[in-house]
Amino acid sequence: MNKKAKIKHFKEILNKGLCKSLIKERKQDYYELIELFKNHPDYPDKLHNVIDIKIEKNPRNKKYFTFYLIKNDKNIDSISYLNCINKPNLNKNINSALRDCINTQISDFRKSLKEEKCVLCNNTKDIQIDHIVLFRYLVDDFLTNKTYIPNSFDDHPIYHYAIFKQKDKQFADEWCEYHLHNAKLRSLCKKCNLTRSKV
Ligand SMILES: [Zn+2]
Repeated sequence: MNKKAKIKHFKEILNKGLCKSLIKERKQDYYELIELFKNHPDYPDKLHNVIDIKIEKNPRNKKYFTFYLIKNDKNIDSISYLNCINKPNLNKNINSALRDCINTQISDFRKSLKEEKCVLCNNTKDIQIDHIVLFRYLVDDFLTNKTYIPNSFDDHPIYHYAIFKQKDKQFADEWCEYHLHNAKLRSLCKKCNLTRSKV
């Protein structure tokens, strides 16, 4: 499908109208949309913990509809299908697979904390684990020395993000090892994490 046809196609799906649960009522649309949303510039974070999609009236203009992602903690997040067609994120799959590998290290770090508290403002709500040296710098360093980088991936069975194939296990293990020895983690509240410098 070319870009124009793609826009038309997903606009039609959106304009079928109000729907509380695409996964229950319009399964095929649901899976097509999840595939499309993997091209969102904020993927994989954008799709993290998504369990359903709903369609509601656009709050700013009731003439239009909007897609909303429903997360497993009941949080709702709007998503633009146009963003997924016009500004695709080319490194999304490798990034998501690399992030998947280090999930256990992140949760081990969280468990090791005496108390979940923001190291900048002492807030104890919505604590997230942050890479002091940005994740993408670690990734760049790691990938620089690699002669082989996987370029095809498996799909996470529940959350539908890219994960490494079994044949790339050695690559994944080397990355985990690298991350374990080089990543410096800290706990930040959501607000401090959002407002931290991203360079
Ligand atoms: Zn804070």
